[in-house]
Amino acid sequence: MRKRTIPGSSGRVRPMRLLGDEGLAAPCAEVTDFGPALAELVESMFATMYAAQGVGLAANQIGVPLRVFVYDCPDDEDRRHLGHLVNPRLVAADGVVVRGDEGCLSVPGVEAPTPRWDRAVVEGFTADGAPVRVSGTGFFARCLQHECDHLEGGLYLDRLTDRHRRRALRAARKAPWAGSTERMPVPPAAEAPVRA
Ligand SMILES: [Zn+2]
Repeated sequence: MRKRTIPGSSGRVRPMRLLGDEGLAAPCAEVTDFGPALAELVESMFATMYAAQGVGLAANQIGVPLRVFVYDCPDDEDRRHLGHLVNPRLVAADGVVVRGDEGCLSVPGVEAPTPRWDRAVVEGFTADGAPVRVSGTGFFARCLQHECDHLEGGLYLDRLTDRHRRRALRAARKAPWAGSTERMPVPPAAEAPVRA
């Protein structure tokens, strides 16, 4: 069998920026340098996303204000979608609007019913500069829209109805991390006893 590199295996887990961090509220800049630093960034984003047990992560969530996101996300048919996008553009979002529970690694422990299009198409580039087009449905379409929002300085909280937004913000204010703007991801598995 051919050896394949596991995404994130050479990356470094970075502190996660949390709700209240200014970088989460500002649009990210286009990537212009497709050099080794970009490949390293993608690796660290995978490492951080996996450590936090997430399905997607945008660069500004680890404090890098560039238009990059990574994902390892199932759709509603349980197909796995794994990849990264540089300078992504949401070129289509259509179908029906579905209100489903959504959370964010930058607002840990909080979830709220969030309206999203059922289908999304994103065009962008790989870290090598090759053009890519990614399309998704269901939960993966939700993920693509969520990550594109991050790169515009948005959060899913902005998409909630007033009532759900107030409830989510109240939960965030009571969360153990309230008052901090970053923390290291601590996956529950790391605290569990090691078996085998
Ligand atoms: Zn998020």
